[in-house]
Amino acid sequence: MKYIETSLIHTGKEFNTTSSVTPPIYQTSTYYAPENPEEYLEMAGEISPSHFYHRHGNPVNNQAAAVIASLEGKEAALMTSSGMGAISTAVLSIIEKGDHIIAQNAHYSSVSMLFREFLPSLGVEVSFVDQADNEAFQEVIRPNTRLIYLETPSNPILTITDLSFVGKLAKEHGIVTMCDNTFASPINQRPGDFGIDVVVHSATKYLGGHSDLTAGVICADKEFIAKAWKRMIILGTSLSSFDSWLLLKGLRTLSLRMERINSNALQLASWMSEHKAIKQVLYCGLPSHPQYELARKQMKGFTGMICIDVAGDDEDAQFKHAQTILNKLVLFTNAASLGGVESLIVHPASMWGKHHTKEQKLKAGISNGLLRISVGIEHINDLIADFDQAL
Ligand SMILES: *Cc1c(COP(=O)(O)O)cnc(C)c1O
Repeated sequence: MKYIETSLIHTGKEFNTTSSVTPPIYQTSTYYAPENPEEYLEMAGEISPSHFYHRHGNPVNNQAAAVIASLEGKEAALMTSSGMGAISTAVLSIIEKGDHIIAQNAHYSSVSMLFREFLPSLGVEVSFVDQADNEAFQEVIRPNTRLIYLETPSNPILTITDLSFVGKLAKEHGIVTMCDNTFASPINQRPGDFGIDVVVHSATKYLGGHSDLTAGVICADKEFIAKAWKRMIILGTSLSSFDSWLLLKGLRTLSLRMERINSNALQLASWMSEHKAIKQVLYCGLPSHPQYELARKQMKGFTGMICIDVAGDDEDAQFKHAQTILNKLVLFTNAASLGGVESLIVHPASMWGKHHTKEQKLKAGISNGLLRISVGIEHINDLIADFDQAL
């Protein structure tokens, strides 16, 4: 299959061994053993077996994994119980005590906690760099650096990392690279095309696309996926059958949804950048984005994530202004998460207020006037009209 649109519908069909067009949900924890003991031995030792025991594998999980691996242009993929399940499983499958990791200043909040608190408590060293500064990655490399962990565009303020620069740098030093591709989606960006070894997603977001499931995925070569699978069965981060079934359903329309989302977001961001009530619009598809050229180089579309910094005389005034807008919006629901068919909005300074210190928030670019928007697939005129009345 040459095109992504076709692959989304047809890849992984071989995992459905029934004659149903849509695979059934395997709501079972275990499967009858084959009569031949040698066959059973084989199955029990397999990576992601389809019919052995649910924590080890499931036919629909395998089908969804095959679709996503093909989207990312990787050899294999592994489904997990959540995006954090994918990230922690992938990192812990290669990191040992005494290793050093290079991470970015700006990451999804739970990922920041993984690198700032949990891994250091196990004797792993982590350096944090400004992802927009290529040299910064180079400067902190040590002999024990095992992993460079990236997220681009980063959550929330859409800072871009130069994937081919970091991919090449890491290869020269024999360091593994991993990239969280949640914000972009594989329709808009394929880190593997720029030399990144491992791609992780919160499939809860664009891949699922309907705010009705929690899932994650790790994409890499077969060797890495085998290691990750061994960690997954220890950590117990396997994906439930129902969620993988919903995910497969969501994946069917991924390319259609992303097309509409990309186009809606670009139109909304352009309209917002003319509005007086908004101090700044951060959208990587606008020429005003400080890294627009880099975004164009490595992204085919610019996703549905937009950040705005609302006007106000000081931090307090901005905070109040942001809250007023949130309350007045009708179509944009104030809720955590992103990537669904419905438009959502959040105030990151409130959402992450308890998890980050003031200094960490500033470093991650989270000001009191910042609003993060996830643009859905509604009609663009209604979305603009909603912001027009709220502003
Ligand atoms: C949501 C999110 C995660 C975590 O995913 P869960 O499915 O909630 O565990 C990780 N990275 C990014 C960029 C996210 O937006």
